[in-house]
Amino acid sequence: MSQTLQAIRGMNDILPAEAELWELFEDTVRSWLKAYGYRPIRLPIVEPTPLFKRAIGEVTDIVEKEMYSFVDGLNGEALTLRPEGTAGCVRAAIQHNLAGMTPQRLYYLGPMFRHERPQKGRYRQFHQVGVEAFGYAGPDIDAEQILMGARLWGDLGLDGIELQINSLGQAEERARHRAELIAHFERHAELLDEDARRRLHTNPLRILDSKNPAMQELCAAAPKLIDFLSEDSLKHFEGVQRILKDAGQPYVVNPRLVRGLDYYNLTVFEWVTDRLGAQGTVCAGGRYDGLVEQLGGKSTPACGFAMGVERLIALIQEAGGAPEVAAPEVYLVHQGEAAIRLAFRVAEHLRDQGMNVVQHCGGGSFKAQMKKADASGAPFAVIIGDDEAQSGEVQLKPLREEGAEQRRIGVEFLAEAIIDQLLDREEE
Ligand code: ATP
Ligand code: MG
Repeated sequence: MSQTLQAIRGMNDILPAEAELWELFEDTVRSWLKAYGYRPIRLPIVEPTPLFKRAIGEVTDIVEKEMYSFVDGLNGEALTLRPEGTAGCVRAAIQHNLAGMTPQRLYYLGPMFRHERPQKGRYRQFHQVGVEAFGYAGPDIDAEQILMGARLWGDLGLDGIELQINSLGQAEERARHRAELIAHFERHAELLDEDARRRLHTNPLRILDSKNPAMQELCAAAPKLIDFLSEDSLKHFEGVQRILKDAGQPYVVNPRLVRGLDYYNLTVFEWVTDRLGAQGTVCAGGRYDGLVEQLGGKSTPACGFAMGVERLIALIQEAGGAPEVAAPEVYLVHQGEAAIRLAFRVAEHLRDQGMNVVQHCGGGSFKAQMKKADASGAPFAVIIGDDEAQSGEVQLKPLREEGAEQRRIGVEFLAEAIIDQLLDREEE
């Protein structure tokens, strides 16, 4: 017996009813990005493995255990399915000298891959909209990127998404904090879980990101990075906050917000909802001024964020805000040799006039075809039999109006008749 093939666990098929919502979401996202001057960039899904190791950091969840890495069987190259978009975007910016030119505002959208335990809001193939700005050093771009989020939630009809921000300062400041942090955790070594023990001397800041409930108290009592920030770092952070306040954007400073990737400095932020259970972060980002240089480019300040599309789609669905996807204007029913030939011409003619037309395919009785027409949601059926076809005419039948009569009409008058009736309906 042959076994039915199934999609890989954690990699979802997105079926039409939901994919239509995805497309509406993407339309909204694209016009929102345009409104802020962001331009698209399309990047490969597979990159050399060392790119991610260098960009994201060896001691991170992603590089330690989440990457789909493999050896190209043809040439032995070490490759990885991208777990996030920033590394590839920076690689491309360096490779094509984008960051060396005028400042850039870039975005991309597409699948990312992480080998995590699949659960609601957490998948192995998931999708991100990612935004990166290169060449801006001041707090204005950080604040603008944060405020962009607020506008998008509004555009999507979402509320209750809370903004958390923090500053990670600069490397030297983190180093001083790190020493104190290690000392704090060492004093309570018996309370550390396995992950924390492993990270204690490699990446203690990441311990603060722990989701283990047993670790929460210990983390809350740990020395706070903000107390180690320099004057410049504090000034940058205050600059961001001033713009947020001017814009009337509420936020909370969360000192434990450290982000799971190594490349961040100064501003980091997350947009969080409590409506999705444990997977509540829908958007996360921050500044990463060192990364371009670290990957071999010219030192360039940078700031970006990524949104989890699955989580936002779930929120839209949960809010009941999924808009109706438009039905076609016309379902075209036909039967007979002459009728099918006229049907093809009529369908293309109506599409020339800007209408969406579903032409019945696969034959069947008029009755069966009319059932399909009803189910399509189209406001009109256009019906063609051989009799009508001989005289270059069709039947126009309104499907959604009580008592509306079907009428016979010449093909040359059809488009206008439909448009007139659609306009009438809109006025009502
Ligand atoms: P988490 O702490 O939830 O694992 P993260 O810090 O690893 O998140 P980022 O790398 O910042 O996540 O990715 C940005 C956003 O992408 C997240 O806020 C989330 O909305 C989404 N995301 C990340 N990983 C997944 C996943 N496995 N499945 C679905 N969405 C994800
Ligand atoms: Mg993660």
